Amino acid sequence: LTQLYAPLNFLGFVYREIKHALADMERMFGLMAKDREVADAPDAIPLNTRQAEIRFESVDFSYEPNRQILFGVSFTIPAGKTLAVVGASGAGKSTLSRLLFRFYDVTGGAIKVNGTDIRQLTQDSLRQHIGIVPQDTVLFNDSIGYNIAYGNPNATQEQIVQAAKAARIHDFVSRLPDGYDTQVGERGLKLSGGEKQRVAIARTLLKNPPILILDEATSALDTHTEKAIQDELREISRDRTTLIIAHRLSTVADADEILVMDHGQVIEQGTHRQLLAQNGRYAQMWALQQAESPG
Ligand code: ATP
Repeated sequence: LTQLYAPLNFLGFVYREIKHALADMERMFGLMAKDREVADAPDAIPLNTRQAEIRFESVDFSYEPNRQILFGVSFTIPAGKTLAVVGASGAGKSTLSRLLFRFYDVTGGAIKVNGTDIRQLTQDSLRQHIGIVPQDTVLFNDSIGYNIAYGNPNATQEQIVQAAKAARIHDFVSRLPDGYDTQVGERGLKLSGGEKQRVAIARTLLKNPPILILDEATSALDTHTEKAIQDELREISRDRTTLIIAHRLSTVADADEILVMDHGQVIEQGTHRQLLAQNGRYAQMWALQQAESPG
């Protein structure tokens, strides 16, 4: 009987891990399980690239039949470049990242990676290529080491430490009573917003994906931490195709391109300079933000 237990235990472990992973993704995207509805095409092919160009072609989308959310959204992020999306709450910014991750299929138009419609790619391979630094990182009731390695079961201790160093959280972890074995989460040590973001950055560094989605935190960190984290995010997005869902204009000014969305449509598109010169919505938002927080 004990011989039977081991594989059963293992299966239980695998099941819990998968449930964990799905729950994590859902929480990251603020989704419910019932929302997942995409399936692999029978002839789906795996994506395999380090250089990913992302293209949205006249994308329409609705979550529910009678309420369209996106209207003909088009943009291209060349491989290794950064596009930042700004716009009022509810404009459809986060929806773009959910569609890129293929939590849903577009209802019109197409999303392509290196020219291939993502509906022709296996979901697993697509998602392997995308790293997400979410607004609010979910921590599991496990060790900090586990939380950093999360999603990379093959990571060695050395790689974990390396990623933690690059994400500037190693010194903090080293000072904890049990180091990388310190228990965190609801039943363990609570981490600050900035520390949690650093865990997410370390996770992403371990995954080393060619595509990055950064969903900027709405909750304010102190200015010093925020500046440091912005620098680290800029560092990890270098050479990766990056989509930033931005809530503050200060972080988007040096993006290669900025998309201004309103009610599911792209209303302006260009660099920070171009958009200021255009003197439209972006310029207005910028002036307003400068007035609110001078310096
Ligand atoms: P914020 O800046 O507040 O995060 P956003 O621009 O990212 O907003 P989205 O999250 O993309 O906006 O939402 C766009 C619209 O889609 C909103 O009106 C929202 O109510 C709706 N929506 C989002 N998720 C769902 C869902 N799962 N089911 C139905 N409608 C949804």
